[in-house]
Amino acid sequence: MRYLSTRDASGDASQRFCDILIGGLAPDGGLYLPESYPQVDDATLTSWRRLLEEKGYAALAHAILSLYIDDIDSEDLLGICRRAYTAEKFRTEDIVPVTRLDERLALGHLSNGPTAAFKDMAMQLLGELFEYELARRDQSLAVLGATSGDTGSSAIFALKGRARIHVFMLSPLGRMTPFQQAQMFSVDDPKVVNLAVDGVFDDCQDIVKKVASDLEFKELHRLGAVNSINWARLLAQVVYYVACWIRCTERNDQQVSFSVPTGNFGDVCAGHVAKQMGVPIDALVVATNENDVLDEFFRTGVYRVRRSAETQETSSPSMDISKASNFERFVFDLLGRDGARTAELFSGLGTGEGFDLSDVPALAQARSRYGFRSGRSTHADRVATIAAVDKEFGVVVDPHTADALKVAFDVLDGDDVATPVVVLETALPVKFAETIREALGHDPETPEAFAHLADAERHVTEIDNDADLVKKIIVETLT
Ligand SMILES: *Cc1c(COP(=O)(O)O)cnc(C)c1O
Repeated sequence: MRYLSTRDASGDASQRFCDILIGGLAPDGGLYLPESYPQVDDATLTSWRRLLEEKGYAALAHAILSLYIDDIDSEDLLGICRRAYTAEKFRTEDIVPVTRLDERLALGHLSNGPTAAFKDMAMQLLGELFEYELARRDQSLAVLGATSGDTGSSAIFALKGRARIHVFMLSPLGRMTPFQQAQMFSVDDPKVVNLAVDGVFDDCQDIVKKVASDLEFKELHRLGAVNSINWARLLAQVVYYVACWIRCTERNDQQVSFSVPTGNFGDVCAGHVAKQMGVPIDALVVATNENDVLDEFFRTGVYRVRRSAETQETSSPSMDISKASNFERFVFDLLGRDGARTAELFSGLGTGEGFDLSDVPALAQARSRYGFRSGRSTHADRVATIAAVDKEFGVVVDPHTADALKVAFDVLDGDDVATPVVVLETALPVKFAETIREALGHDPETPEAFAHLADAERHVTEIDNDADLVKKIIVETLT
């Protein structure tokens, strides 16, 4: 399997999986995609069903990943999958259990990993892949990232304790939830450096950009990233779409739909890939919060990057985005993989700017051929949904999952989707206690594994909003 950039007009698929594993964007600013999606037939689906039932999630992951990765030895890849997806890390044999709520609704639990958010599904695999590839190349890596909450701790828990990897994670001082802070700062590892910046998330991101734009510095200290446009992260996520489909069906001719709480379009883009492979997926429902860039696109065909003043802070903060960084992948497919056109639309797309696909057949196809639906929720919707789902099904969900449930009810009640909907649960309620208290009048349950966090020692350095200071800390830590 070869990979090409979404902005490559020549269609030159020249990269192999391990070439794009550690890098981020393609040199032309595009995102990598496989040259084609491997197609699965009935026999393959049957064999995957058996594999999941008899050998478990890691074996299924190996089978799916093998279709996309041909530059890692198959036995080694199996070892990587087995180390990434253990019952110990995910606190369940199933890794991704599915709870059936009623005839038409199920929950796919993606948040049983080490940091109680769905990012672990991809990061745990990425950690293993990085370790393997760095050893093979005899290289080291310093991961520099900025986080507003879930990504940072998920990356830290996946990368800590690895011989060749340092992590420098910037977060906005005092702006994450108490649980997120306690969790992220609990890690005691000299190679994991938490920097709480006196500023907001955008300031953290600006520092990362500034440091990474110093190419000499970047090269010298082997700086890398683990951002959401990484293809390996997306690929890891394809596996749980297959696993949820298997766990909700008995036969291969039964389709299911998914409702996905969406921010950067990474999670639902993996669903798109699974559907394009021929996995029996009907609709892919994009659920946004008040930051509705994507709902607007799927309703109107207009994609408009929000200005930072328009980007709202909501009670589902991991979906508070001004533009959806993975969206370019879907648009590339939607435009018949026209790299020149994709480059025209996306390169230099600034805040407040956008494009309009409403007058091309593409928008109708997004719905008919690709299965996309969309909707949005408000804070009041999420609070009401958390209360209603607790009352009706006795299940407490976090505000991100509530976004997706709200929109799932809308499309089902509106007869817009006729197949059972799997709502992807992307975080445990304990991470967002304040909203749960507002909805239910009491605190969410704290799973045993996180009980110690409240009193854990904190390992974090508070710093000024200063890129040069971050560079200095990187140099001092690495030498
Ligand atoms: C990251 C995240 C999302 C959004 O996922 P995308 O891949 O960015 O669309 C939703 N919910 C939670 C809890 C998250 O951490």
